[in-house]
Amino acid sequence: MDRRIYGIETEFGIAHSAPGARQLSPEEAARTLFRPVVAWGRSSNVFLPNGGRLYLDVGSHPEYATAECASLEDLVAQDKAGELLVDDLRRQAQDTLAADGVPGQIYLFKNNVDSRGNSFGSHENYLIARRTEFARLVQILIPFLVTRQLLVGAGKVHPAGPEDFGAVPVGSGAPSYSFSQRADHIWEGSSSATTRSRPLINTRDEPHADAQHYRRLHVIVGDSTMSQTTTALRAGTTDLMLRMIEAGQILPDRTMADPVRSLREVSHDLTGTHPVLLADGARRSALDLQREHLEAVRAFVDREGAHHDRVPWVLELWERTLDAVARQDASAIDTEIDWAIKKKLLDGYAARDGLDLSAPRLAQLDLAYHDTAPERGLFNLLQRRGQAATFVPDERVEEAARTPPATRAAVRGRFIDAVVASGHHYTVDWVHLKVNDRTQRTVLCKDPFATEHPEADALVAGLRAAAPAGDGPAHGDAPVI
Ligand code: ATP
Ligand code: MG
Ligand code: MG
Repeated sequence: MDRRIYGIETEFGIAHSAPGARQLSPEEAARTLFRPVVAWGRSSNVFLPNGGRLYLDVGSHPEYATAECASLEDLVAQDKAGELLVDDLRRQAQDTLAADGVPGQIYLFKNNVDSRGNSFGSHENYLIARRTEFARLVQILIPFLVTRQLLVGAGKVHPAGPEDFGAVPVGSGAPSYSFSQRADHIWEGSSSATTRSRPLINTRDEPHADAQHYRRLHVIVGDSTMSQTTTALRAGTTDLMLRMIEAGQILPDRTMADPVRSLREVSHDLTGTHPVLLADGARRSALDLQREHLEAVRAFVDREGAHHDRVPWVLELWERTLDAVARQDASAIDTEIDWAIKKKLLDGYAARDGLDLSAPRLAQLDLAYHDTAPERGLFNLLQRRGQAATFVPDERVEEAARTPPATRAAVRGRFIDAVVASGHHYTVDWVHLKVNDRTQRTVLCKDPFATEHPEADALVAGLRAAAPAGDGPAHGDAPVI
């Protein structure tokens, strides 16, 4: 497929800190956070004027799912807009607590593991063609996903070394740094379970589109990425792999003997040279496998042409990152790749203060890197200082908090504006728009690429005509910025 729909779902970690006073549980903090959302949307599960979805599931991880995007720029902007939106909620929650006389601070982290060792995710969604044989696609993609962490891991400090894998001790217990946050929390290659036995790829077949033509690939192994360039590389490389697989390209079989074990081994080997055991008995390093993927994709692009104008950028950063790992010198990527940006920050502190990776201070800095608050978060600070590269301008991120991308999300955004202004109760999901009035009108939006939808637009026109005079679009009334 030349055009693709992408979406990223981010679960945030939430914590309240109140030294010397009662600490709110994550559940209490999350409920406070969602008060303005519930007041606006009558639910803790809402679709926003920018076409995205904000919700609080059972448990306590607020989740933001981007609207459907059709370009890497939109995907990055919509993903980053989610951080602005939850930060705006955090500020409001902070004011609420202050007004109620509750001391302390609320923190929202875009990372993948909390202090109790629970993991939460960053799910990538890719629209794929139904005609592509899914089993073959998964088989080719898994070795790519297992080794992709060299490019797009968010980095993690392990003060007591890698965790044991089941009953098998993995490391010596020496403090260490890994490429990935999430790798240690994945237990299966592919399956339809998400929590019980977390897979790299979730195979639940829910296309949110015309099921005759499309499927939605749901990759749940990835780390939440703070860096815009890392996020763009994550979706950009995966899209190119998918494009090549969908074109039926013959590729060598690199099925791994134990992908889940290899995922951990690769994460904890910063040299990229650990020999991964393949199903046919051969051993190949993560660097070798990634180079092979890159060369296959490059040959494919040379033959078929680039399908968007950032393809050369993706290929260049892909190669430069592998070179950096091979040379064991991250200086060429330490403003663009999360694990390297964070490692540079930690190495700097460690050298200055004579610390090693077991120091609690470094684990704190690791966490603070993922703090979404602009004034506190270390990644945000680095980006403001020019020490972390951007992929889209700040204005584009700010705009994305209010404006949907040019996909089906635009139809949804217009509907939400109109129906909120009209005061009607309504129900929305990725494919349906419904006004819960006497007529119970429901519009089905099966095409995720379509920015126009005559039936939906007629419904919107009707709502606008019926809206109280003087009421414009409801953006200003949205719960968040
Ligand atoms: P849950 O997270 O509750 O298990 P889910 O996987 O359906 O359900 P949502 O949190 O609702 O996930 O998010 C769906 C994601 O899929 C969004 O980021 C959205 O933009 C994206 N998406 C929607 N339709 C498509 C599609 N047809 N193809 C690819 N991605 C899509
Ligand atoms: Mg979700
Ligand atoms: Mg999901």
